Amino acid sequence: MITRSPIPLQRQASTPATGAWQAQLAGAIRDPQELCRRLALDERWWPGAETGHALFEVRVPEAYLARIRPGDPHDPLLRQVLPLGEEAEAAPGYVADPLEEADHTPRRGLIHKYAGRVLLIASPACAINCRYCFRRHFPYEENAPSRAQWTDTLDYLRADDSIHEAIFSGGDPLAASDRQLAWLVERLEAIPHLKRLRIHTRLPVVIPDRIDDALLDWLGHTRLQKVMVLHINHPNEIDETVIDACRRLHDAGVTLLNQSVLLAGINDDVDTLAALSERLFEAGILPYYLHVLDPVSGAAHFDVPDDAARILVAELRKRLPGFLMPTLVREVPGETSKTPL
Ligand SMILES: *Cc1c(COP(=O)(O)O)cnc(C)c1O
Ligand code: SF4
Repeated sequence: MITRSPIPLQRQASTPATGAWQAQLAGAIRDPQELCRRLALDERWWPGAETGHALFEVRVPEAYLARIRPGDPHDPLLRQVLPLGEEAEAAPGYVADPLEEADHTPRRGLIHKYAGRVLLIASPACAINCRYCFRRHFPYEENAPSRAQWTDTLDYLRADDSIHEAIFSGGDPLAASDRQLAWLVERLEAIPHLKRLRIHTRLPVVIPDRIDDALLDWLGHTRLQKVMVLHINHPNEIDETVIDACRRLHDAGVTLLNQSVLLAGINDDVDTLAALSERLFEAGILPYYLHVLDPVSGAAHFDVPDDAARILVAELRKRLPGFLMPTLVREVPGETSKTPL
């Protein structure tokens, strides 16, 4: 089991968690029974929630909870965050580190598998714990570098002029403080061959107030081209607060893309996927990837078989303009790109 503290980088940077989003992050629901009670789920759900929570702790911010229908155990947003007893069941082929990332970390907090771009683990924490997450067993603590260790990572980037893009990943990189992120971006900017900053984050979706002036200050002023890849699986995740956050990002010159995970019982039907693409575009976001589930232990009950996934995407293509079609991909350990199905 991994235990992740909610805001370690803020503590490192010794900025008090007083801002609106920090308070929301710290105040997220972390008790499985409280989650059930708040959503009027009867006691039948409690033992499973406790079992799953013991494997990967519950974390649901209020702003996300507000989009879940109380009393509906099948709500597609609830399903992404409610631990179930099934998580304790072993399934053949489902393992702790399905992507074998432990093998590709030449420096702390850095994963270099693909040409021209590197992943930087800018924060080990997440604002929400998604039950299907392939990082549910990732050794975060070992990969959360301090400032001194970042220097080593930055040297690696400086020394390799084939790297044009730095990708902030995690955990969720926007769980780090703006002070920490601004510090890092300032150093990345000074590396001449870096052209792009990409941020893989779910925070603008789960706590839209994260997109505040302090963030827009460093993000809006970097010379790097900016891409943000959000993570949204269901149209109900996009309410007016998310649309407002996206508008602020767009005004700061950020290109917005989205990746989803195909999840049984959540978005594995054509109507939902079509509605998701339409809703994304209303928020100014283009669909990018639709991932099949990574075979991480504890998540087998979310699996959609490959054949069903291909049929779904073929049906989707009949419903949507080409620019609203995500690419269906799998992450294959050892490959140097995502693998289209
Ligand atoms: C997914 C991923 C990327 C980004 O891949 P794109 O196809 O450019 O979105 C980069 N590095 C690693 C290790 C990844 O897993
Ligand atoms: S926000 Fe992303 S990294 Fe964090 S638990 Fe969810 S899917 Fe995993």
